[in-house]
Amino acid sequence: MLFILKEATSEKKLEQVREVIKEMGLKYHLIQDGKRIKFFIQNSNPKQNGQIKSLEQIDYSEEINVPYPLASRYVKNEDSIVKVGNIEIGGDKACVIAGPCAVENREQLNDIAKELSGLGVQLFRGGAYKPRSSPYAFQGLKEEGLKYLTEVKEKFGLKVVTEVINTETLKEVEKVADILQIGSRNMQNFDLLKEVGKSKRPILLKRGMSATIQDFLMSAEYILAQGNSQVILCERGIRTFETATRNTLDLNAIPLLKQLTHLPVIVDPSHGTGIRELVAPMTFAGIAAGAHGITVEVHCKPEEALSDGMQSLTPQQFEKLYYKFNKLEAALK
Ligand code: PEP
Ligand code: MN
Repeated sequence: MLFILKEATSEKKLEQVREVIKEMGLKYHLIQDGKRIKFFIQNSNPKQNGQIKSLEQIDYSEEINVPYPLASRYVKNEDSIVKVGNIEIGGDKACVIAGPCAVENREQLNDIAKELSGLGVQLFRGGAYKPRSSPYAFQGLKEEGLKYLTEVKEKFGLKVVTEVINTETLKEVEKVADILQIGSRNMQNFDLLKEVGKSKRPILLKRGMSATIQDFLMSAEYILAQGNSQVILCERGIRTFETATRNTLDLNAIPLLKQLTHLPVIVDPSHGTGIRELVAPMTFAGIAAGAHGITVEVHCKPEEALSDGMQSLTPQQFEKLYYKFNKLEAALK
């Protein structure tokens, strides 16, 4: 049940509502939606609902019947903005996350970070832990990779986006990550979702390769339900009958998600296509479809990359993409 407070309810009066709900032994989520403050309560009974509704502070109440209430626009209509330092994700300006698929060694990471920060990129990606489809494929440098990420972060003043693959390594990854990435293969790792839901870090949640939009939003709900409201959704392509591309980038998902949820939605044209030449056109398509940003794989020597070389852009190719991206963004405003 959603309880909407009267506009301009004082802090003291708000506290009183909080106390009443607490005394009932109920858990609640406090939501700021534009000028309105709302209480969302799961599992309250009709008697409790009646008591809360009768409080003078309550303007009206609504029953919410979606499987992902906190992620939905029914509970919060205003777009959510995730802040990372002075960068805003979900606002008017589309964000750019770029970097290698994986951290491979100190030199590789340093070279890419240098190129990208020189171009003005502020959000740097790279996996130290890599969940690979094959057990024989490069699994990432792990702690050593986190160390190199810390080095480039300090040297170039970058914010780091890096993947966390399990609950055991979460604390360690959290120390380096400005944004924690939950990869496609872990989108329904519910224990992990619950743990990152308790984190203070923003979460970049990638769509599972066979996940429906509802599955995707329910995974976001797992994180929100634990109190972490800083969730960014990422469309990264889904499995279809088509094998000519690595995945089928579901562009429909972008405007549809924006209709259903207040959370920022970004697009990953690298994993969405698997083919370097398709990354720029699908970046532009994603932005034209309304994405709040992009995440793109870049490598100085894509032919030598230990993972995802086929879809990685060289810094020169990325520079061209970035130039057009900025023009497109300005044109769309
Ligand atoms: C990645 O971002 O490198 C990655 C592994 O992506 P996904 O989880 O979308 O496959
Ligand atoms: Mn990758």
